Amino acid sequence: MSHIIYPTTNLKATETMTMERGEGVYLYDNHGKRYIEGLAGLWCTSLGYGNQELIQAASDQMAKLSFSHMFGGKTHESAMQLSDKLSAMLPMDNAQIFFGNSGSDANDTHIKMLRYYFDAIGKPEKRKIIARERSYHGITVAAACLTGLDVNHKHFDLPIDALGILRTDAPHYLHGALAGESETQFVDRITNNLEQLILREGPETIAAFIAEPITGASGVIVPPEGYYEKVQAILNKYDIFFWADEVITGFGRTGNDFGSTTMDIKPDMMSLAKQLSSAYMPISAAAVRGDMYEAMIDQSAKAGVFGHGFTYSGHPVAAAVALKTLEIYERERLFEQAAVKGEYLQKRLQAYADHPLVGEVRGKGLIAAVELMADKAAKKPFADGRVGSYMLQACQNHGLIIRVVAGSAVAFCPPLIITEAQIDEMLEAFDKALADTMAWVTA
Ligand code: PLP
Repeated sequence: MSHIIYPTTNLKATETMTMERGEGVYLYDNHGKRYIEGLAGLWCTSLGYGNQELIQAASDQMAKLSFSHMFGGKTHESAMQLSDKLSAMLPMDNAQIFFGNSGSDANDTHIKMLRYYFDAIGKPEKRKIIARERSYHGITVAAACLTGLDVNHKHFDLPIDALGILRTDAPHYLHGALAGESETQFVDRITNNLEQLILREGPETIAAFIAEPITGASGVIVPPEGYYEKVQAILNKYDIFFWADEVITGFGRTGNDFGSTTMDIKPDMMSLAKQLSSAYMPISAAAVRGDMYEAMIDQSAKAGVFGHGFTYSGHPVAAAVALKTLEIYERERLFEQAAVKGEYLQKRLQAYADHPLVGEVRGKGLIAAVELMADKAAKKPFADGRVGSYMLQACQNHGLIIRVVAGSAVAFCPPLIITEAQIDEMLEAFDKALADTMAWVTA
């Protein structure tokens, strides 16, 4: 017996699974069974398990300075170096970084920084944020308001109206297109909806548009060609910030440094976490353009303290581990490798597109989904989550950890260090699990 209230879990029905140790891309449970990691933990363990350099970096930092807070301008070497490194890497002008502990808190931080900034430049009416359907931006009260999933709202009285979250279409052609609509027509329609929403609400009231360049946890949605080009043009026209939530897509995942690079987006703000430290320590970064920060300084000069911060903002051990993670990415050229291995993964997965149970295979780089469907020809999803649950269990039986998202889409997001031979191994287990699921569905 334990006393844990499990996160994001059916508290009644779920059986626990006890993990004991990890090594490279493999995990071992308490019975000694080995699993290949198909989801990098929760889209985060990019360097796999047991990386000695990261362990050493944490240990060295703990020995030297295990904690130091950053309130009132206190600082330390690891956080300063990490902010410089990130600022140089991010596809933004002179990015300035606020450190936190999770993707959710990075998004909460951005909501506050936006308000602080618009007060600073004398536009306090710019408060609203446009977020999309089928998006996941985290789970703290404010971040959950950004998230576009019912399960994260109901029972919690979310979203909170005062936050001014507006909702627009997900760029999900498979499930969002009207009958007979081409991809181009779909993009035209949903971007037109976005523009109409902005005009209805008043552009002068809208601060930002938040998007995951490729949506992860709620379905691995890769927008059709031309979507972001149109979105970016609309946002520029109405002076609305592009806020890229790169909590999953950051650091090589899509085959480039950032998902924004892959999707040709020029963000004004970015949220980062997960692969920032390869999940060896919890750390997040909320990055804003340099000129936004300059205005925030002016606001503090007028009004005093920027009243937002966490005890663990810029935690020295997390910062040291993140810094070492970025060093390893660069030294091992892991982003370039992710592009090559990603191409291999996507090609191998496409072979399942003809499988009778598979409705769609989609992805970019080392993130992908194979969506199972009740009626392949009609693109009709399964009515409930039972097939997805069966598939998840079948994968585990065959020694593969994946996650089933958006009902019955099998998500792949292996550690960036996975080799092509290990991708083969992963797909061998997937193949067997799919055969089991097929037999169960047709029995
Ligand atoms: N944003 C995105 C795109 C995510 O995928 C997640 C988590 O999966 C979050 C934010 C929230 O991050 P965390 O779980 O670290 O709070």
